[in-house]
Amino acid sequence: MLKSEIIAQMPKVELHCHLDGSLSLSCIKELAKNAGVNITMTDEEILEKAQALENTKNLLEYLKRFDFVLPLLQSYTNLELAAYDVVKQAADDHIKYIEIRFAPTQHLLENLSLEEAVEAVIAGLSRAENDFDIRANALICGLKQEPIQKLQKLLPLFDKIPDEHLVGFDMAGDELNYPQEKFIDLIHDLKINAVNVTLHAGECPACEQNILDSIAMGASRIGHGIMTKNLSKAEQEMMIEKQIVLEMAPTSNFQTKAVTELAQYPFKELYDKGLHVTLNTDNRTVSATSLNKEYEKISAWYPDFSLADFEKINHYAIDGAFISKEEKEQLHQSFIKEYKKISE
Ligand SMILES: [Zn+2]
Repeated sequence: MLKSEIIAQMPKVELHCHLDGSLSLSCIKELAKNAGVNITMTDEEILEKAQALENTKNLLEYLKRFDFVLPLLQSYTNLELAAYDVVKQAADDHIKYIEIRFAPTQHLLENLSLEEAVEAVIAGLSRAENDFDIRANALICGLKQEPIQKLQKLLPLFDKIPDEHLVGFDMAGDELNYPQEKFIDLIHDLKINAVNVTLHAGECPACEQNILDSIAMGASRIGHGIMTKNLSKAEQEMMIEKQIVLEMAPTSNFQTKAVTELAQYPFKELYDKGLHVTLNTDNRTVSATSLNKEYEKISAWYPDFSLADFEKINHYAIDGAFISKEEKEQLHQSFIKEYKKISE
């Protein structure tokens, strides 16, 4: 098992982090002040509202916890601050590259347009990049439960906002009731416009078909993909061959009841088979975690998982990142150097 000090020093990549689920307590309080919301709760009470309950029943109940902060994320100023706050926390985790995702349609309750919502997040990411040693990009999420006509309005954003920080698309939300096939045409339109796609899939029990459908639709990464464990050997080998990246998030995966016992958690089993697993927080606040804590968890669960193994999953994450070949190469080289230093 690796020491916390070693884990803290390891450079990391995080591919799966939701903006609205990852705000620090101080940021939530600042957003409330800006929004003119008088929060009379104590810090503990705020966290109680924003964090998933110990006995969360399923993915849908987990997703309910976002209702608390969303009303605070309805202005340009607050979205900018929120994006900055999450990158700052990522820098504390010694993350060198992060992709932060959010659903622009969730931030239009006041008078923001879809474009302004995206621009605000990008502004926050850029400001944080100037202040910390990290690169941060944005992914736009569509929510599976939204009507297709509403989701289609997200597609032109990739043309309208020619900013290098906007790097891909994701479908998140209610996987239980909305199988992936609903989005075939939508994802097809994105793929012909060369937009990078990652899709939440295989996060709930018996949802493995969604993983295969996502790959067939052109996703190069899968959000969580826990049910990859139920796929056949040939299907898993296809995923290795295609270098499909699985964006796993241990704390969240237990809270959403993707699995209930450690013996069922497939992280190590899939890693040993050669699947490109990676580690992520999903939601720092809702899951009360950090990327360092997720690494510590994995290290405690699988004491043989070595520094070299952690390095390897970070190279998988770099390979799956939605960045240029040159940027990937730079990250690979600097990670090789940094991990070598730590091992000495
Ligand atoms: Zn997620």
